[in-house]
Amino acid sequence: THFGYKTVDVEEKQQKVAEVFHSVAAKYDLMNDLMSFGIHRLWKRFAINLSGVRRGQQVLDIAGGTGDLALAFSREVGPQGHVVLSDINESMLNVGRDRLIDKGCTNVDFVLANAETLEPFNDESFDLVTISFGLRNVTDKDAALRAMHRVLKPGGRLLILEFSKPVFEPLSRLYDLYSFTALPVMGKLVANDSESYRYLAESIRMHPDQRTLKQMMENAGFQSCDYHNMTGGIVALHRGFK
Ligand code: SAM
Repeated sequence: THFGYKTVDVEEKQQKVAEVFHSVAAKYDLMNDLMSFGIHRLWKRFAINLSGVRRGQQVLDIAGGTGDLALAFSREVGPQGHVVLSDINESMLNVGRDRLIDKGCTNVDFVLANAETLEPFNDESFDLVTISFGLRNVTDKDAALRAMHRVLKPGGRLLILEFSKPVFEPLSRLYDLYSFTALPVMGKLVANDSESYRYLAESIRMHPDQRTLKQMMENAGFQSCDYHNMTGGIVALHRGFK
């Protein structure tokens, strides 16, 4: 049946995503720095600055991987606050946990969770929910956005940092060239894994553009949604409130 066929597709995507991140986990931080020329640090810094996070707050970082955002939030909320670093992938979460424990974070928990359901988390339990370079890997993005809305407290804030659509055609061409030729080559050289980085380039191209994502957030119940383009729209930071 058509439905049966679709189910196989969805499982294939989830399986593929799991393999990719299991295979890149150990080299993930190094590859991030190389592939973005270190600029991902600035994109994340911008998100942290726009988060409005305060001491004592409760923060959930979804698809948090190796924990860049969780580490920053752990410092911002202080000992009275609390951060949850969550990811669907045990290999990524293990790298994140080891790293944050090494850095002395005592106010962070590490929880395996699928962004589509956020099942381990209660309704209205976080002041801030973030997902950074994670949403494009999620199969049912609408379900994920509804789950993010569910776990936020009223007045709480969602931030989505993700690759988006370059606003300027020549930049868009250059960027395609970079992602489909240079990325797999770098993946092969550094992580001996060109396939995963080809997947990365494809997932970026398939991801909804700025306006579509904003509309999806509104459909999930978020209010006052807006976005900021960074690096010419290669990355966008979307923001919404419950
Ligand atoms: N947030 C980190 C960062 O900005 O560096 C890691 C981003 S990494 C590119 C994407 C992460 O999304 C991976 O750790 C992967 O395991 C996770 N992921 C993929 N699908 C997911 C899902 N359905 N639910 C939760 N996490 C997921």
